[in-house]
Amino acid sequence: MIKPASRTENIRYAIRDVVVEADKLKKQGANILHLNIGNPNTFDFAPPEWMSEAVIKAIRDNKNGYADSLGIPEARQTILEEASRKGINAKDGDIVIGTGVSEVIEMCLSALVNSGENFMIPNPGYPLYNALVSKLDTGLNKYTLDENKDWEPDTDEIKRKVNEKTRAIIIINPNNPTGSLYSRKVLEGIIDIANEHNLVIFSDEIYDKILYDGETHTSTAALADDVPVITLNGLAKNYLVPGWRIGWAVFSGDQKKLENYKEAVFKLARARLSTTYPFQLAVKPALESPQDYYDKLVKKLTPRRDLTYKRLNEIEGMSVTKPKGAFYAFPRMKFEVEDDMKLIMDVLHKKHVLMVPGSGFGWEKPDHFRIVFLPQPEVLSEAYNKLEEYVKENVK
Ligand code: PLP
Repeated sequence: MIKPASRTENIRYAIRDVVVEADKLKKQGANILHLNIGNPNTFDFAPPEWMSEAVIKAIRDNKNGYADSLGIPEARQTILEEASRKGINAKDGDIVIGTGVSEVIEMCLSALVNSGENFMIPNPGYPLYNALVSKLDTGLNKYTLDENKDWEPDTDEIKRKVNEKTRAIIIINPNNPTGSLYSRKVLEGIIDIANEHNLVIFSDEIYDKILYDGETHTSTAALADDVPVITLNGLAKNYLVPGWRIGWAVFSGDQKKLENYKEAVFKLARARLSTTYPFQLAVKPALESPQDYYDKLVKKLTPRRDLTYKRLNEIEGMSVTKPKGAFYAFPRMKFEVEDDMKLIMDVLHKKHVLMVPGSGFGWEKPDHFRIVFLPQPEVLSEAYNKLEEYVKENVK
């Protein structure tokens, strides 16, 4: 028996774990409605043609070798221009491109946080950050997103929970799994805390182009000239190509404070050679997409968001706040639930609707779950009808 390293013991990724059970039912002939994973290409979404053409051309031009460890210059230049459009004061040499923003996040946290130190993560939040707490053997330091305040955090709570071992605060804006946006006031509050305690802010903005009702997105880094901010973004969601695995970090803020740390991240980047070459050629055409591309994407998603908000609030015993961005909702179950994973599995078995329990996002109470509203409206409608039936038949 080979004993696995203890750093893997607490790693869970519920978004994929639930699929194992769904696959068993599928093998028995069940038609599963997948509301579990933010993978647009399994629904009716595909990237813009101009991105695909750029990648195909890159492959034909034999851009198939290793690339620059920090990312190809053309892509880094485009990312810099996009950062500047968002009001971020960065320069050439402040960017690293990786294999999905996941890899970049891992490199940036690995280069910052020692075992026994901690970084603050939103609760609920994207499970990769929780997994990295285990992998890097750091302390868990969560701050709560408050459902009663449209899932915004309370900066006083963050202030209370910062301790001498805290190195960073993670922001996910727009948020996965709640679809919420952080207000400017909250962002400024977090910047003040980071400033006071010499922390680095990680601002994960991977859904920043998917905004409803005319909402606008403020990059944290645009509000912070002196505090070190790592702005994280990528092609996966805004451009519908999660499988191309292209993500990046932009370092901004006090350059003197950042210098050594940035070099440490770049060292890790060099140690793993490079990310995929041809897909980096899609960065320029992606970030230079016409406004019409984003408008169409949001227009397609809006009725799905609206339907989700309406139908879930109509189900007796459930409620949901209106997502302002991304393609997730995090509904509340107002009835007694003992174990959210068991309940989600029961819904899967009885109604063939697959969702993810709130505990998969670090949420401790078994009273929430996450819905991905990427499927077509007919599929969502059917799923919500089945969910309503489930509640009627099973909840007293
Ligand atoms: N950050 C957030 C908030 C996400 O929701 C996701 C994916 O769902 C990622 C990062 C991972 O992005 P990538 O596919 O670029 O690794």
